[in-house]
Amino acid sequence: MASHLLIPFISTPVETIAPTVSRLQSTFTSLKTHPLAYREEQLRKLYWGIKDNEHQLVQALKADLGKPYFEAMISEIDWIGAEILYVLKNLRKWAADDKVDLPFLHRLVLSPRIRKEPMGTVLVIGAFNYPAQLALVPLIGAIAAGNTAVVKPSEQAPNSAAIIARILEGALDPEAYAVVNGGIPESTELLNQKFDKICYTGNAAVGRIVATAAAKHLTPVLLELGGLNPCIITKSADAKLAAKRIAWGKVHNLGQICIGPNYVIIHPSLEAEFVGAFIQTLKKFFPEGASKSPDLARVINKRHYHRITELLNNTKGTILYGGERDESRLFIEPTLVKIASPEDSLLSEEIFGPLLPMLIVEDLDSMISVARKIGDCPLALYIFSAKREEEEKILKNIRSGGATVNDVLFHAAIPSIPFGGVGESGTGSYRGKASFDAFVHRRPVVNQPSWMEGQLRVCFARTLSFSFLV
Ligand code: NAD
Repeated sequence: MASHLLIPFISTPVETIAPTVSRLQSTFTSLKTHPLAYREEQLRKLYWGIKDNEHQLVQALKADLGKPYFEAMISEIDWIGAEILYVLKNLRKWAADDKVDLPFLHRLVLSPRIRKEPMGTVLVIGAFNYPAQLALVPLIGAIAAGNTAVVKPSEQAPNSAAIIARILEGALDPEAYAVVNGGIPESTELLNQKFDKICYTGNAAVGRIVATAAAKHLTPVLLELGGLNPCIITKSADAKLAAKRIAWGKVHNLGQICIGPNYVIIHPSLEAEFVGAFIQTLKKFFPEGASKSPDLARVINKRHYHRITELLNNTKGTILYGGERDESRLFIEPTLVKIASPEDSLLSEEIFGPLLPMLIVEDLDSMISVARKIGDCPLALYIFSAKREEEEKILKNIRSGGATVNDVLFHAAIPSIPFGGVGESGTGSYRGKASFDAFVHRRPVVNQPSWMEGQLRVCFARTLSFSFLV
C-alpha cells in the first residue's frame, strides 16, 4: 500500500548499530534507567509523544496499510495510550519486592524477597500489520521494567516506521533508547549483538532465525508468531451471531491480524444460515461495495497481494461471496469460499488476508481432529457453541495461545491478561503486568546475619533445611 512516503524512510547505517547497542549497554550499567521515577517519566513522555504526533501516525498508517481512522485509533494509538496509562497506574505495585512464604522465624531472620531486576539492554522487533502497536507495546514493558532498549519497526510499513523513529527520538532519552530502521541487513546486524532479551513479532520462519541468533548468546526470547486460527461452529451454536462476529473479525485490517479467524469448520445443519448471515453482514458493512469503502484497509504490498491471490487461484473450493481484486489498489474483497478438504490451498498456510475458507464437518470429534491436522497450536481458537461441555471438550483437545468463545479477537483486547502463543505460535507473553514480567529477572535475595553462625553450625544441616519445606 505504501505507494508514497510521507516522510523519508531512512535506514540506519549498519556500521552505527554496534556502537549504538554498546552506548545503551553503558547507560544500563550506569543504573540511569533503574529508578522508578525515571521509568515513569519516560513512559509519560512516550504517551505525549504519541498524542502530539497522533495525526501524522494516522496518516502514516493510512499510507502503509490503508488503515481506516477508526481502526488506527482503537487498535494502535488509543491501544498504546491505554497500555501506558495502565502500566503507570500499576508500576510501583509490580516493581515492589515479592514476599516469600516461609515460617515466621526464618522470614524474620533471613528477610527473603524476590527483587524485580531489569534484564539489561533488550531488542524489540515489530511486524508490519500493527506497526505502531507491535513495536511500542513491548517497548512500554521494557521501559517499565528498567531496561534500555532498541526498537526495530517493520520496514514493510515504512511511513509508520519513520514516524515511530521521529516520535521515539523526540520523546525518549537517547542514551537509553534507540530506533534502528531498515530490513534484513540491519536486522541481521542487530542479531549479531548480544542483547539481554529479544522480543520478536512476525512469521515463524524468521522467528527461527531470531531464536537461533539469540541462542548463540544464550539470550532469552519472547516470540510472538502466527498460525491458522480455527473458528469451530458446533451444531448448538447461534449461526447468525457467529457469522456477524466472524465477518467483523475478518475485515478488521483486511484480515491482516495474527489472531484473525483463518478458517471455519461448521456443522452441516448451520451452513445455509451461516452463509446467508455472513453475506448479509458484509453487505451491511459495505453498502456501496467493499472496494469503494474508506473503512477497509488494503494489503500491505504487492508481495502479499500475490501471495494471497495465489492461494485463491489455487483453491478447489467454490467462491460463495466476494473474489473481486485489484492489484493497482492492492484491494482484495472479503471472500467466503466453501472448500471440500483440509488439503485445499487455502489451508496450506496462514492466510493473513480477507479470505475465509469454510469446511463442513459432521460431528464434534471430527471437527477437533480436522482442526488439529490443519495446524497444531494456533495463536487463537474461536469456539461457537451454546453448550459448556462442547466448549470444554474443544479447549481441552486443541491447544492455542488464547481463545474466545462465541466471538473473535476479544481475548487479546484486555490489557490485564497476558497475550502470547504456544508451540508454533510463539513462546512467552506480554501486555500489562505480563510485559513488565517479560522484561525483568526475578532475583531471589536472602540476608544471612553474621550472628547466625553459631546457630547454623548446630542445626543448619537438618532442622533448618527441612523446615523450609514445611
Ligand atoms: P514483517 O515482514 O513485518 O517481519 C517482521 C519483522 O521481522 C520485521 O521487523 C522484519 O524486518 C524482520 N525480519 C524479516 N526478515 C528478517 C531476518 N531475516 N532476520 C531478522 N529479522 C527479520 O512481518 P511478517 O513476518 O510478514 O508478519 C506476519 C506474521 O507475523 C504472521 O505470521 C502473523 O501471524 C505474525 N504476527 C504475530 C503477532 C503476534 O502478536 N503473535 C502479531 C502480528 C503478526
